[in-house]
Amino acid sequence: MSENYDVIIIGTGAGGGTLAHTLASSGKRILLLERGDFLTRELENWNPKPVFVTGRYISKDTWFDGDGKPFQPQIHYFVGGATKMYGAALYRLRPEDFGEIKHVDGISPAWPLSYDDFEPWYSAAEQLYQVHGEHGEDPTEGHWSKQYAWPPVSHEPRLQQISDDLAKGGWHPFHAPCGILLNEADRPRSTCIRCAWCDGYPCMVHAKSDAEVIAVRPVLGRDNVTLVCGAEVTRLETDSSGRTVTGVVVSRGGEREVYTGDIVVISAGAANSAKILLSSANDKHPHGLANGSDQVGRNYMFHNSKAIAAVCTEPNDTAYQKTLGLNDFYSATKDYEYPMGNIQMVGKSNAEAMRGEKPHLTMVAPQWTLTDVAKHAVDWWLTTEDLPVPENRVTLDKDGNIHLTYSNTNLEEADRLYGELKKILNHTGMAEHHVWRKNFYADMDIELAGCAHQAGTCRFGTDPATSVLDANCKAHELDNLYVVDTSFFPSIGAVNPGLTAMANAIRVGEHIANRIA
Ligand SMILES: Cc1cc2nc3c(=O)[nH]c(=O)nc-3n(C[C@H](O)[C@H](O)[C@H](O)COP(=O)(O)OP(=O)(O)OC[C@H]3O[C@@H](n4cnc5c(N)ncnc54)[C@H](O)[C@@H]3O)c2cc1C
Repeated sequence: MSENYDVIIIGTGAGGGTLAHTLASSGKRILLLERGDFLTRELENWNPKPVFVTGRYISKDTWFDGDGKPFQPQIHYFVGGATKMYGAALYRLRPEDFGEIKHVDGISPAWPLSYDDFEPWYSAAEQLYQVHGEHGEDPTEGHWSKQYAWPPVSHEPRLQQISDDLAKGGWHPFHAPCGILLNEADRPRSTCIRCAWCDGYPCMVHAKSDAEVIAVRPVLGRDNVTLVCGAEVTRLETDSSGRTVTGVVVSRGGEREVYTGDIVVISAGAANSAKILLSSANDKHPHGLANGSDQVGRNYMFHNSKAIAAVCTEPNDTAYQKTLGLNDFYSATKDYEYPMGNIQMVGKSNAEAMRGEKPHLTMVAPQWTLTDVAKHAVDWWLTTEDLPVPENRVTLDKDGNIHLTYSNTNLEEADRLYGELKKILNHTGMAEHHVWRKNFYADMDIELAGCAHQAGTCRFGTDPATSVLDANCKAHELDNLYVVDTSFFPSIGAVNPGLTAMANAIRVGEHIANRIA
């Protein structure tokens, strides 16, 4: 490839896509390299069977766990990355997440920047991704400089009833921040219809605020932005000093291509960004590019998450179920000295999704039973922070395959959070003692393959001995290499990571724009 670009961005998800959007107006030549393609808009987008049972949108990758056992990661290689499938619950981390927090299993470390440093970027990301919400409702949130530009998405009747019951019981429910496109006047053909096919599904009408729709597509008409799909970056080459990336090696259609750029930004997702760096070992970087600290690939986090279907006598006709959140247990309480985490809703369950998620349990269940169960289910999503443990890490075998070694932390906190949810369910008429007669709960822990919330692996920090990136997300050991995806997280908090990745990409984008101006 003869053309030299000002900036090459690897990956087009929450990090890479948002960065491209931020840099596009600089007029500099931007190249986006994406291993996937555009996700096809087709009827299957909204069909739970291909989405949850046959895995139509999941990559064919094989990764290996710490014992060498193969598994298929639930990872999505498309323009827009994981945001094509995400639930678009776009939360800010809480201010305390930027400081050191004591957990039952250890310390969640401080970030090199504070919530105040991040606040303007959160605000910018909320505007860009058209987040609907109401700052001020959730007592745990930090200060905000701008109210959401779009009002909160109203609850459907069943959720309104639950929200009212929670408030009466002394809890503090709030309207969850939702990234959906509801402005009919602006988007006559692709306005969100608030359907059930959002969380975990691609949006067929492009009405979800994902990175393709919001960040990548709008800049593709510019002369200075080029997108190359089907381009898997396999390795970065450096000059003889090891300080400068001089070539981005790509496998495309079975051919090897090399692209050059003044600045190179990796945003391939936490596991794949580590893979690219580890695969790029050379004489000056014998343990992987930018890995003098031995931190590349380490501190992998993905949240202690649990999905709960509380099946009750009353039907739940809600379609778009992501509107409610509860952070009463986000920090230590008077009854428990450690944080427990966030409670929110997950996409509405259905029979096929239940089969996909619990194939053994549902094998003998007739379709009508599962349909009836799903019709009566209220579906919750619990998130507890997991800690950055150095041994939880991405490594590569001699063939370059990803090995993901991981052990949970803070399981006690996660169990306690579930205990608190059960109290809530009792209070809101979904009591467990009615099991088999009326109400019951089905809970599901998210396994290693469920790497939706992957983060860590290239954390940022001020000390090159203990971090991979500096505060601008530039590699300590290289002059022109940045990492701008969830890899940079030194800790993950207990809310969904997407908005923080987007806010950080805007922040780093402004820094890079100033640098190359
Ligand atoms: C089902 C699901 C639900 C979720 N729900 C939420 C939610 O409600 N709220 C929230 O905040 N977060 C949610 N998430 C998580 C959120 O989507 C991710 O945190 C976010 O997308 C991570 O951004 P990223 O830039 O790190 O990676 P990604 O968005 O995954 O982007 C990585 C990109 O790099 C590309 N790539 C990978 N390897 C290479 C390579 N070698 N060469 C070239 N390109 C490469 C990939 O194809 C992809 O486009 C969800 C995720 C999933 C899967």
